[in-house]
Amino acid sequence: MTTAAASSPRTYQVRTYGCQMNVHDSERISGLLEQAGYVRAAEADENPDVVVFNTCAVRENADNRLYGNLGHLRPVKARHPGMQIAVGGCLAQKDRGEIVRKAPWVDVVFGTHNIGSLPVLLDRARHNAAAEVEILESLDVFPSTLPTRRESTYAGWVSISVGCNNTCTFCIVPSLRGKEKDRRPGDILSEVRALVDEGVLEVTLLGQNVNSYGVEFGDRLAFGKLLRACGDIEGLERVRFTSPHPKDFTDDVIAAMAETPNVCHSLHMPLQSGSDDVLRAMRRSYRADRYLGIIEKVRAAMPDAAITTDIIVGFPGETDADFERTLDVVREARFSSAFTFQYSKRPGTPAATMDGQLPKQVVQERYERLIACVEEITWAENKKLVGETVEVLVAVGEGRKDERTGRMSGRARDGRLVHFATGANGQHGEAGSQAGRIRPGDIVHTTITYAAPHHLNADGEPLSHRRTRAGDAAEAGRAPRTPGVLLGLPTIGAPAVAPAPTTGCAAH
Ligand code: SF4
Repeated sequence: MTTAAASSPRTYQVRTYGCQMNVHDSERISGLLEQAGYVRAAEADENPDVVVFNTCAVRENADNRLYGNLGHLRPVKARHPGMQIAVGGCLAQKDRGEIVRKAPWVDVVFGTHNIGSLPVLLDRARHNAAAEVEILESLDVFPSTLPTRRESTYAGWVSISVGCNNTCTFCIVPSLRGKEKDRRPGDILSEVRALVDEGVLEVTLLGQNVNSYGVEFGDRLAFGKLLRACGDIEGLERVRFTSPHPKDFTDDVIAAMAETPNVCHSLHMPLQSGSDDVLRAMRRSYRADRYLGIIEKVRAAMPDAAITTDIIVGFPGETDADFERTLDVVREARFSSAFTFQYSKRPGTPAATMDGQLPKQVVQERYERLIACVEEITWAENKKLVGETVEVLVAVGEGRKDERTGRMSGRARDGRLVHFATGANGQHGEAGSQAGRIRPGDIVHTTITYAAPHHLNADGEPLSHRRTRAGDAAEAGRAPRTPGVLLGLPTIGAPAVAPAPTTGCAAH
């Protein structure tokens, strides 16, 4: 293998599959590589010096897709001496050395616990002209102590924990991400402050099970306290979190959400099934009554809360009656949106070898009925907002048709997607002037004029437009970076469009 000329830095691309954990891990991978001197290749660049696949093992056929993609790269690499291919993420953690046996042109395989080793492994592989495979069984460095190249100027993810102590039978996460490791509250809050100092307005606290946060240091109420502490951070306008677990959800979290003004009234709480028998088979230790009980309390404390969920249909052994129970819960819970998944076998999970696997046709029929039921409800819930004024944080890449319709898009405080008219020529206020231009990261108030099942439109003139530092950063082409846990002043770099996760993940 040859190395690139010393004068031109090596370029990289990260290709991300899977859930938000992976998308955030990819921000860390980018941060690490840039700290090591690599520069990001343009998306259209077909010859980057390093391609990193951050993989997901959750979906069936994930490995076929990976090996297919690696196969496509083989001739590219042959034409581009010095190119390196690295595979990380859950599939790497699972398949380990198997990856270089099946695709010997791969240079580096790294796992979910040792992201920080990637630059060294790339160097070593180049130096030795041999593949490096390094997988750790458990975490040695909490990943948020790694430098991170943030993809958004206005919103950031902050990990509060990694791993999971549950054993849901459809889920591969516990075996690949290990036991739950909680990050210290002080470190979390430092990272949140570092982001806010750079102009970020919205933070999403991230963990496989945020409600068990604190289990490691013996404080069952730690998550609610963390939400309240976020409420004290000046300049932080929106706090979200994902994912909670109904088993560990405590009332103090509902109180913290209701009483902390910057915590958004949106809750994404995975249901998975409305049938107690299926929940038992999934080894999810709450029952439908408990789930609905939490929702009732959330609605009592926050009548404007938007509640979203994940549902799996066709779990092994699911009967028609079980499925009807799921529909009952959906009707009662009145979700504002639901990610629905057809059960598919995930190798390595207990459910993959369970009796009672259902024929595809049965699963498909139930799935279609579920979608129809969910959409009827989400549409009815969205229609209630027509005529209401919402606060929108203007986003990048949320409205596919924006260019054609002349709208911009963003999220309301409750998480709903809003496409809004921007006023004359995309300006608001001082029409035609630079100061009136609405930018991603700015805040707009507007009135909803139309509701669809999955989005809202606001086609009148915005009622107000607030320019923010996040908007300034977006306009200037800067993205926040966090150098691990607040190690000095964050630096500024050019932003890029966030890597879109390419598969959904029903992992909670
Ligand atoms: S589904 Fe979520 S809660 Fe269950 S084992 Fe997987 S990560 Fe943990």
